[in-house]
Amino acid sequence: MKKGQKHSKETKEKMRISHLGKSTWNKGIKMSKEYCQKLSSIRKGKPSHRKGKFLSDETKLKMSISCKERGVIPPNHTGLIRSEETKNKIRMARLGIKRPDISGEKYWNWKGGITELKHSIRESSEYSRWRTKIFKRDGYKCVWGGESHGNELNSDHIKSFSSLLRENNIKTVNEAVSCQELWNIDNGRTLCVPCHQKTDTYGSKSMIKINLPVYN
Ligand SMILES: [Zn+2]
Repeated sequence: MKKGQKHSKETKEKMRISHLGKSTWNKGIKMSKEYCQKLSSIRKGKPSHRKGKFLSDETKLKMSISCKERGVIPPNHTGLIRSEETKNKIRMARLGIKRPDISGEKYWNWKGGITELKHSIRESSEYSRWRTKIFKRDGYKCVWGGESHGNELNSDHIKSFSSLLRENNIKTVNEAVSCQELWNIDNGRTLCVPCHQKTDTYGSKSMIKINLPVYN
């Protein structure tokens, strides 16, 4: 079935009948804690997929009748008792407030603050000096496509920035600034943005590949 394609009324009716009395395929299957957290981190801060959508009165009536027939509690949360703790968690998630019990070191994908460190290093003057040297050497052109690739340029660490940080056990910006290997211009190249995005170390590509903490 193609995306966007819809089942005909007839097919829907057939599906409905064949599913009657059966429970859903994923009933009773438990998601792992990690998977749950992953899903929740993807959804965090995003509006519900039902936001702005309203059920027609007809649909509401149908749902209500069907629930009564089957003797199930309607799929809204009326009568659902949540503990104060849970309510508070929901409130915080909605407001986008970080929860100390699952943030930072306690977060399942915690990388030891490497993201913040990389960010600070990229803002250092050492980094902009390094970048300028690379750009100058390469004549302000993408090394893969030259002038034809335009002038939206990035400086790329050939050996990834994160591997260098990790191998040299760099934990602070100062340590980074004094690390010769990090600023070796032989390890840098000028790439246009599209070419940079094609590199293995761009963004979180390496995470997709190895599915482990990312260092790029
Ligand atoms: Zn290019």
